Amino acid sequence: MPQQQILIVGGGAAGLTAASQLRRARPELAITILEPADDHYYQPGWTLVGAGVFNLEQTRRREADLIPAGVQWIHEAAAEFDPAAQTVTTSSGRQLGYDLLVVATGLRLCWEAIEGLPDALGEGGVCSNYSRQHAAYTWESIQAFQGGNALFTCPPMPIKCPGAPQKIAYLADDVIRRDSALAAASQVIYATATPGIFGVPTYAAPLREVVARRGIDARYNHVLKAVRPESREAVFMVNEGEQSREVVIPYGLLHVTPPMAAPEVVASSPLAAASGFVDVDQYSLQHKRFANVFALGDVAGMPNSKTAAAVRGQAPVLVANMLAQLDGHPLQERYDGYSCCPLITGYGRTIMAEFNYEQQPVPSFPLDPTKERWSMWVVKKHLLPWIYWNRMLRGEPHERHSMPGLRP
Ligand SMILES: Cc1cc2nc3c(=O)[nH]c(=O)nc-3n(C[C@H](O)[C@H](O)[C@H](O)COP(=O)(O)OP(=O)(O)OC[C@H]3O[C@@H](n4cnc5c(N)ncnc54)[C@H](O)[C@@H]3O)c2cc1C
Repeated sequence: MPQQQILIVGGGAAGLTAASQLRRARPELAITILEPADDHYYQPGWTLVGAGVFNLEQTRRREADLIPAGVQWIHEAAAEFDPAAQTVTTSSGRQLGYDLLVVATGLRLCWEAIEGLPDALGEGGVCSNYSRQHAAYTWESIQAFQGGNALFTCPPMPIKCPGAPQKIAYLADDVIRRDSALAAASQVIYATATPGIFGVPTYAAPLREVVARRGIDARYNHVLKAVRPESREAVFMVNEGEQSREVVIPYGLLHVTPPMAAPEVVASSPLAAASGFVDVDQYSLQHKRFANVFALGDVAGMPNSKTAAAVRGQAPVLVANMLAQLDGHPLQERYDGYSCCPLITGYGRTIMAEFNYEQQPVPSFPLDPTKERWSMWVVKKHLLPWIYWNRMLRGEPHERHSMPGLRP
């Protein structure tokens, strides 16, 4: 029987995890990863880069060192998907065939959707932890802040790590409060396009308390439209039912989380749903129209919260269902929407928000998950990066399933 060909497009958190797990499950498969980048970054660490806890280099590894042994790496990008012909064309024009395709390209950051932002970013206190090049500048900007509004924005969903836009606001507030004169001359504002502080009610309640305790001015339904660096102003459209109005907020520091979308190569392909993301079944992770295509990670069109943690919940399901598809068996594994957002509420404090599609808490630890804890800060700072590099990317099973009895 000819060797079955698996093509994984994207060698980020999702593609590497899927490749490692497939390789462990069935070493005889011919697995290829298509990935243009030389380096891979642990993006969840960028919040702590922006807060001066990590440096960027601590979040970087060489891609070559992460590709699982026995997996072929093609150092190019996918330029076109043709699922009817079962081919992917690479950036150099090479055509790759496959028996099964995994789409794991992550998402696209739409900096250009905010007028003035691409030029403003990286100067004059305009920063973003979502940009590898500018995460360290967030920390510089926080330290250089001399009063006025410290403004943090959050775009419409979906975005990756929906908690990250507010985590940095709490960390910056801690730094500002270390200097009472500066604190008296400052206002932290969190302006979000969402109608509430967080989409999962169980965790929104304690976050509202954090906001109130800190005196943060939280403004909802605020969609950032433009940045005017000359006058240090951010322009928002505020949506109120049928009406919308423009609001201009002056800033001394502006941390922007840009809108996000599926990469163009996916959005313009036959694989896309109307949203642009890959049109997969939210439980089986199989494409709704092309049975030999699967997707996971940020590019997959499921309604889960897009995080690296979600990949840990998705990968075992994806692998089991891909193998069932290869063997001609029914697809039986179901992804429950698991995601985890370590909601840092200050230096040394984190709410470990784990939840599923039903927005039910699914804690991995035998503790009330709605509480701010120092122990969960330690988990965020030390344990999760260790799990990522040493277990997840190497295809080890998801800890949540290996801790029976610990869930309430
Ligand atoms: C500031 C910040 C904070 C975050 N905090 C957390 C957190 O606390 N917890 C958490 O779990 N998650 C967090 N995340 C989210 C997490 O990093 C992502 O959800 C995760 O990386 C998704 O994995 P992915 O493989 O889908 O995408 P990525 O890891 O982004 O990888 C996508 C890969 O696809 C490649 N690619 C792109 N286009 C093509 C193409 N055309 N052809 C081939 N390859 C392509 C890219 O080069 C990249 O290597 C955070 C992210 C950011 C930016």
